[in-house]
Parts: sequence; structure tokens; C-alpha cells
Amino acid sequence: MQTIDKFNFSGQKAFVRVDFNVPLDENFNITDDTRIRAALPTLKKILNDGGSIILGSHLGRPKGPTAKYSLKHILPHVSKLLGVDVQFADDCIGTQAKEKSAALQPGQALMLENLRFYAEEEGKPRGLAEDAPEEEVKAAKKAVKESQKEFTKTLASYATVYVNDAFGTAHRAHASTALIAEYFDVDHKLFGYLMQNEIDAVEKVMKNTTRPFTAIMGGSKVSSKIEIIENLLTKVDNLIITGGMTYTFTKALGGKIGKSICEDDKLDLALSLLAKAKENNVNMVLAVDAKIADDFSNDANTQFVAVDKIPDEWEGLDIGPKTEKLFAEVINKSKTILWNGPTGVFEFENFTHGSRSVGEAIVEATQNGAFSLVGGGDSVACVNKFGIADKMSYVSTGGGALLEFIEGKELPGIKAIRGY
Ligand code: AMP
Repeated sequence: MQTIDKFNFSGQKAFVRVDFNVPLDENFNITDDTRIRAALPTLKKILNDGGSIILGSHLGRPKGPTAKYSLKHILPHVSKLLGVDVQFADDCIGTQAKEKSAALQPGQALMLENLRFYAEEEGKPRGLAEDAPEEEVKAAKKAVKESQKEFTKTLASYATVYVNDAFGTAHRAHASTALIAEYFDVDHKLFGYLMQNEIDAVEKVMKNTTRPFTAIMGGSKVSSKIEIIENLLTKVDNLIITGGMTYTFTKALGGKIGKSICEDDKLDLALSLLAKAKENNVNMVLAVDAKIADDFSNDANTQFVAVDKIPDEWEGLDIGPKTEKLFAEVINKSKTILWNGPTGVFEFENFTHGSRSVGEAIVEATQNGAFSLVGGGDSVACVNKFGIADKMSYVSTGGGALLEFIEGKELPGIKAIRGY
């Protein structure tokens, strides 16, 4: 397999799929440019080698060409960060894109307009009525799949090498994230640095694991984490279940949870996960106490109680001090740590303590030689909020993509390049 370190981009035109789907305010100012910065090592390597770049990305969820979702808004900032004046093609498959990509010289870069202005990028039909007859839906799906081939081929025609550095969309089999790879031979398709680092971090945790391996799964609902938990139960030594999920488990075990968040239709599932943990010799760690509130608000009255003795009308919004200590002891003995999801409603300042203590325990374990991977949305927000992101071994940029990767699924964006 070709790798970015080995590849010399001199004289090459690289189609680089990036994830520049950044948040913008109402004046189209970028409010968080992390995703652009994350792609810079790859882009700079290509330019420094003497190659040129054709940047492809999506922004938002447009249903067709929409000024609001134009990538033109971010062009000045990308130029500034990259240190070159990035050109722009106002249509990703139009004449401008073809002519400007053909005229690109070494050291130059061109950004294509939002790929998702075309339904062909995702390969899903648009504009169908909700009650459209099945035949019509079938025909529309077939038509878009057909035109997707031409779309993909056109994108591929601009370049001599394909680079995928968009980990955030690696779980999608879209034209620019996966299908395009078919048009390049095995020596001319490769992962960018960001993508490679993400893959290496997940594989270090899930495949080449140094034990003990502890996963900390938080968040609100068991139902959204079932597949991950099931896969982790075949891999980890310790599984800490925390956040809102705690109360479904506590209720299933016969505890009183007051009006804490709970999925009543998942009580049997919680018990079967506990049984599976036992069968697999996995130490499943649940909270023993909770910080409870008499209202779902930052200013609610609070008290600490045993997790299975929550009075009616009260709800658990974070873990208590005994649980913090229990979790920290497990984390401190670990050599591999995966953290996904807060221990409580960390958006409320008064319920951040548990998540902060887990974060600090992971920092300490990392300083003592453990490998720590944090990812999947809210735990990334946590480590950023607590200012400890740079003390983790790796903080993933992927939300859904990371979760599917941990579930053990094949990601189309990865498979298209390395074959698995
Ligand atoms: P998820 O998106 O599934 O990772 O869940 C993250 C969300 O879970 C955050 O918005 C938290 O506020 C929420 N959460 C964590 N603990 C609780 C809890 N005890 N009660 C209600 N929501 C919670």
C-alpha cells in the first residue's frame, strides 16, 4: 500500500478529500477551524514536494446549490492557514473546475465548490415526495447511481493521485470519499496524515492492545451504544458504564432511580450485557453513588446518594465522589484507555465534576505510560472544556466514523484505499 510519507508529490496533481465541514456564524465567520488545521500537514507536504492540490469537501447538508453552504465562505481562511492563495471553482464538475485544475502549477491549490450541491456525491435521490410510489423511488435511486459514475469519473479526471484525509466521512460510501479511489491504481491512492493517524490510534487500541484495556462509555442512552458495548465486551478487561446509561442498568438490577433518565424497554438488554461481561471475564464497573438534582437545571438543589436509592422526584445528573474514586482506581491501573461520553450532564457547570475527574485520571494514567484515545463527540467537548486535550495520547476528529470503527465495522473510505 502507498503511504503519504513515501510518496513524492513532485509534478503530481492530488485530489485531496478533506472534511472542511466547519461551523460558521450568521456572518459566515468560522467559529472553530480545527478541521481545517487538522488537514494542514497533508496539504503542506504535497505543496512542499512540488505537487498541486485540488481540494474537495462538503459543507452542511445542502439539498442543491445554496449560497449559504458555499465553500467560498471559508476560502480566505484556508488560504491564510495554508500560506498560498487558493483558487476557487464555482462548480465541482463545471468548466471552471476542469480548466482550473488542468492549469494548476506545482505549489498551487484549487478548492472545488461544495460536493454535496450534487445528489451524486451521496448517491441518494433528492426531491422525492415522502409518499412517492415505490416504483418511482426505485427508478430515482437507479438514476442517481447511474449519474454518480459520471460525476465520480469527472472528479477523478482532475488528478493524478487521490488522497483521503477526511476521517469524519470515512463511514460513508460517497463519490469523493470512496468510489473515486477506483480510478487510481494502488500506487496512486493513499491516506493523508490525519486519516492515517486516526486509523493507527484506533488499531492501537482495538487490535494491538496493551493490557489492561479499559473503556469508559458514557452518554445518555444505552440504545445508541449497544453495538459498541457488545464489541467492546469481546476486547476489554474493564468496561466502565457511566452517564445517563447508568440508570437503565441500576433499574434493571432492582435499584430505585427516581426520575433519572432511563430506557424502560432496554432493561433486559442491560441484564444481558451484564451477563455477557461475566461470561467474557470483563470487569463491568457501574457507579455506586450519584449527584442528584430536584430539577433538570444547573441551579437545582443537589445531594449525593447511593445510586440505587434515588428518591422519587429526584434525578441523577452526575456521578458522586465514591464513584469518582472507584473509576480513577480502575483507570490508573490501565495501559490502554478509550473514553467516549461524559459521566453526567457536563453542559451544566454544577454537573461537570465527574467528567473532569475521569479526564484527570486518564491524564495521570497517560503520564504513567498508558495510551489514551478520546473520541466520539461529547467527550472531545469535555477534554477541550477542561483544557486537557493535549495531555491525551490521541483525540479523534471523527464522530460517527470513529464509533463505527470501534464497533468493528469496515469503513468504506478506508477499504477503498487499503482493501479492508
Ligand atoms: P451521547 O450523545 O449519547 O454521548 O450523550 C451525551 C449527552 O448525555 C450529554 O449531552 C449529556 O448531557 C447527557 N447525559 C449524561 N449524563 C446524563 C444524565 N445523568 N442524565 C441526562 N443526560 C445525561
